[in-house]
Amino acid sequence: MKTYPFSNGDQIPALGLGTWKSEPGEVYKAIRTAISLGYRHIDCAYIYQNESEIGAALSDAIMTGEVNREELWITSKLWNTHHRKNDVKECLNMTLEALQLDYLDLYLIHWPVAHQKDVIFPQEGKQLVSLNEIPLEDTWAGMEEVHDSGLVRHIGVSNFSAKKIAKVNESASKKIEVNQVELHPLLQQKDLLDFCKKEEIILTAYSPLGSRDRIPQMKAQDEPDLFEIPTIKAIAENHNCSPAQVLIAWAVNRDTVVIPKSTNEARLKQNLEAAEISLSLEEMEQIGQLDRKYRYVTGAFFALPGSDYTLTNLWDE
Ligand code: NAP
Repeated sequence: MKTYPFSNGDQIPALGLGTWKSEPGEVYKAIRTAISLGYRHIDCAYIYQNESEIGAALSDAIMTGEVNREELWITSKLWNTHHRKNDVKECLNMTLEALQLDYLDLYLIHWPVAHQKDVIFPQEGKQLVSLNEIPLEDTWAGMEEVHDSGLVRHIGVSNFSAKKIAKVNESASKKIEVNQVELHPLLQQKDLLDFCKKEEIILTAYSPLGSRDRIPQMKAQDEPDLFEIPTIKAIAENHNCSPAQVLIAWAVNRDTVVIPKSTNEARLKQNLEAAEISLSLEEMEQIGQLDRKYRYVTGAFFALPGSDYTLTNLWDE
């Protein structure tokens, strides 16, 4: 498995397992299966509401000697309710307890969006808190504290534009190490990729397969199907693999981390194997032509009237 180095020498595996929408009742089995297949990187979040079951699976896999903690790369994310500097540790501790771990490999600010502390999912604007009231720099200072205390080995962000990263880094004593964003052939974010390379920030691709299992309320009508794009299908035929595998291979060949979600054994295996597929320069160029700046995860759920948040200031575009 390809890995990417951090400045302290730690290595993040290029492919990890996504766990958003991995249902309680099935995620334990998915994690055990993934580890037995050879996955060593799991992407979690407090808000996915399945960390205790993931923790049980990690603990059992470690206890049986199948894997040891040091071989695993575990990421989780701070929820929007805990953006105040002094709240960061509280959210992290809930995650650590649920995952039955004493440290995380990577902790990310999940969204550049703050909620009132008792509001998990805002329904109206007044339940959101302006970034003028809780600046991202304050949240980052809380992230630096949990890093310094040894509870997390690396810190980063998610859904951040280059502009927001640059602003946080200006006053940071420890710079942002990772940005996790939506990336696939229809949303290639080349400028952000170039910016992150220049700043030595590792970019992670979420929803690489188009996140087809989102609830209907989160889906647009007539969403494009990545598996049906003729260029992707033709490259898949050429490699005798599936379109999903081409999408994963594309992400790895472009030097990003990729975290496809599955709870199905055959697809878990297929996705892991895809990280080893090498695409030709010509194939990478063909896929490079497909960009449409199309987002599956639009962030519209945060752009509530009566709040400071709009889609324009969320993505800075
Ligand atoms: P995704 O990985 O693009 O797609 C998951 C869907 O694809 C599921 O329906 C899955 O079904 C299916 N699938 C998986 N492998 C397949 C294959 N080989 N062939 C056909 N279908 C396949 O979507 P995602 O869950 O949105 O994104 C991945 C991960 O990124 C998340 O789970 C989460 O960890 C992370 N993420 C982070 C953020 C953020 O804000 N930071 C946002 C979104 C996602 P089965 O499970 O039935 O296989």
